[in-house]
Amino acid sequence: MTTLANRINNLAESETLAMSRKSRELRAEGHDVINLSLGEPDFNTPDYIKNAAKEAIDQNFTFYPPVPGFEDLRKAVCAKLKRDNFLTYEPSQIVVSTGAKQSIANVVLCLVNPGDEVLIPSPYWVSYKEIIKVAEGNAVFIPARIETEFKVKPEQIEAAISPKTKLMIFSSPCNPTGSVYSKDELEGIAKVLVKHPGIFIIADEIYEHINFVGKHESIAQFDFIRDRVIIVNGVSKAFAMTGWRIGYIAAPLEIAKACDKLQGQFTSGACSIAQKAALMAEITPPDTIEIREMQKAFRERRDLMLKMLAEIPGMILNKPEGAFYIFPDISYYFGKTDGTVPVNNANDLCMYLLNKVFVALVPGDAFGDPNCIRFSYATSRDKLIEAVRRIKEALGQLK
Ligand code: PMP
Ligand code: GLU
Repeated sequence: MTTLANRINNLAESETLAMSRKSRELRAEGHDVINLSLGEPDFNTPDYIKNAAKEAIDQNFTFYPPVPGFEDLRKAVCAKLKRDNFLTYEPSQIVVSTGAKQSIANVVLCLVNPGDEVLIPSPYWVSYKEIIKVAEGNAVFIPARIETEFKVKPEQIEAAISPKTKLMIFSSPCNPTGSVYSKDELEGIAKVLVKHPGIFIIADEIYEHINFVGKHESIAQFDFIRDRVIIVNGVSKAFAMTGWRIGYIAAPLEIAKACDKLQGQFTSGACSIAQKAALMAEITPPDTIEIREMQKAFRERRDLMLKMLAEIPGMILNKPEGAFYIFPDISYYFGKTDGTVPVNNANDLCMYLLNKVFVALVPGDAFGDPNCIRFSYATSRDKLIEAVRRIKEALGQLK
């Protein structure tokens, strides 16, 4: 008999966080590790946001906040959705949580019954699959390969739908591929889903502001499907606020109320000080010098990475249009060895690079494509140049 519940025994550790933990351990042993495993901006939170948090402390925002978030923050999120996305929501439809990760978990737990199917275009972000497991739902993956820019077609979605389908979850801009769905592509998907009234859609838009192809498009813009879309967003990525832990949903009222009820039993409202910082982030239009500079840096790093990685033999690349990841196919190296360590899959390759040249990446299996590896380029130019130099050298030794 095991002590722990099946629920936790069956749950996989988050591989992004696991690689990050391994690189911290190697660093503690004195190794010069370059960590390209974690999707986390390397910038500091802008001062105008930090100052709002300092003021919140001085003004004694230190009591339990309302479970779904302070009213001013929920109003600011509605104003942001109007300003940036031309979408109208009421504050009652907004639930603020401890990171977008909790927002997603809330929605899945509120919608998915045991045995329900959840469609996940693949590659996908690591945690979707495991959160669905906790809800005892069944993930149904819809594969998209590098040849189609890792984007799924409406026909594929249609073919994956069954009477048990309850939900679809996807991110655009996408983690791990950087792919961005266009308005037309989203409309094609919405037109399929609208024919099946019981299916809801989680649109994970956490990388909204890290988009190199122009305006962000949300599937919620199509009125005919809007009452089945739950937008997930937050401040972690665009405002360099990963540690503040603030995410939110904009959802049909019934779902927002359900998430409020669940959160009220699990965690209560998100940190009051962090909410006040997030309020400042959201009410300020996202074109401050600080935000623009981060966006510019991400684009330059994307271009730099593409140029450098293209010089490595056997690496197949697509051009990411958003987020801060590159997801190349590296299957060319499978079956090779440096004479000591065999590399048979993406996991072997990541461990080889970590142990040999101290560069941490994440194997594509974590995101549903075992031929790929994920680079997070949310780190300095110098570190990226050094990381790719080391990787090139180590891969060159595989025969
Ligand atoms: N969705 C995606 C696609 C992500 O990459 C992440 C990673 N941070 C999250 C959600 C969760 O973000 P948060 O830090 O707000 O929990
Ligand atoms: N979302 C980031 C990533 O994919 C942060 C780590 C995590 O939350 O899993 O690396």
